[in-house]
Amino acid sequence: MQQVYMDHAATTPLDERVLEAMLPYLKEHFGNASSVHARGRKARFAVEASRERIAGLIGAEPGEIVFTSGGTEADNLALKGVLQQRQQQQGARGHLITSAAEHEAVLRPAEALSDAGWPVTILDPGPHGAVTPHQVTEAFRPDTVLVSLMHANNETGVLTPIEEIAAVCRKHDVLLHCDAVQTAGLLPLNVNDLGVDLLSMSGHKFYGPKGIGALYVRGGVDLDPLVEGGSQERKRRGGTENVAAVVGCAEALALAVDEAAARAERIRCLQRRLTHGLQDRLGNAMQLNTPLDDAPVAPHIVNLSFPPHEEQPMDGEMLLLNLDMQGVHASAGSACTSGALEPSHVLSALGLPRATASAAARFSLGKDTTEEEVDYVIETLETVVQRMRR
Ligand code: PLP
Repeated sequence: MQQVYMDHAATTPLDERVLEAMLPYLKEHFGNASSVHARGRKARFAVEASRERIAGLIGAEPGEIVFTSGGTEADNLALKGVLQQRQQQQGARGHLITSAAEHEAVLRPAEALSDAGWPVTILDPGPHGAVTPHQVTEAFRPDTVLVSLMHANNETGVLTPIEEIAAVCRKHDVLLHCDAVQTAGLLPLNVNDLGVDLLSMSGHKFYGPKGIGALYVRGGVDLDPLVEGGSQERKRRGGTENVAAVVGCAEALALAVDEAAARAERIRCLQRRLTHGLQDRLGNAMQLNTPLDDAPVAPHIVNLSFPPHEEQPMDGEMLLLNLDMQGVHASAGSACTSGALEPSHVLSALGLPRATASAAARFSLGKDTTEEEVDYVIETLETVVQRMRR
């Protein structure tokens, strides 16, 4: 049976070239980057060269890159780090603005800050999950310190107009954090063009290793560390550096940026093929949660859901299991929340009724996805849905 991996928004396979770059640092170059001897210096050099590489790829300075364990930690560090630091500096808790369609990695720290007394505004996203510059402007208060909005929504793929939101933030002297976990290495990302002050990335989303990510922190923006106990990362993240993963993250991003235009164009064609193919075969039986064609959307995500048929709701988990049995590996949206029976918080925030939001499937394409695989998914989904409806 054919096996089709359609879950690249959850994670991507490690690129062979990345593995090759990492291997020496898992073997002979095993030194601790904080040691003063030659092995330590070798490791330190690799970490700093990787930092420089990543910084160069996004228009940043090396000192503006903080390595983290991934996107979740980068998001947590951005929100808690900035707001806690400001409170220490100014003695008052600053206001945070974010959106109900953010990843849990932003929503949970926002909730924790709110529980601890920080004022937090959660904006309602518009169709497909993006908020507008106008909404952000309306939400500003005199004590607003930080806005946190994602570049591409990990469930629907919709893009937030970050450049425009950055302009209004700058005008109000408010910092902007962008979770770019879904777009790093796929869409052009230059922190100066975007106008962001903080930006999160995660290695395993662009064919790098898991357990490594980076937070870009614009020079002059102070952060409280989440993890203390070492002076690594300029005291912004304690702990011995994962040298091999750092090297792999830089190599993966360099390869991805180098190949980004070609990858994105190919994937966008496949996204069209998939959405149009599914619409032709399934028509009104399904609802597309990813905007079509020329809408501002990341090229790799197609999200759809199934409204109840003759008042019978579709069992979303069963749908994914049936697809899995046919070799199609998709997800219900955020991998971190699938497995739980709760409907996706993103689709719920978009106003989908509970039964429809619970019966969703996200197909996410990758650099090696083929037309044949897309056609197999279209055919398989049609068969599975027809069978389930009988
Ligand atoms: N932010 C977004 C938008 C994501 O899609 C993800 C992962 O799915 C994360 C953050 C978390 O990243 P990580 O898995 O590296 O912790």
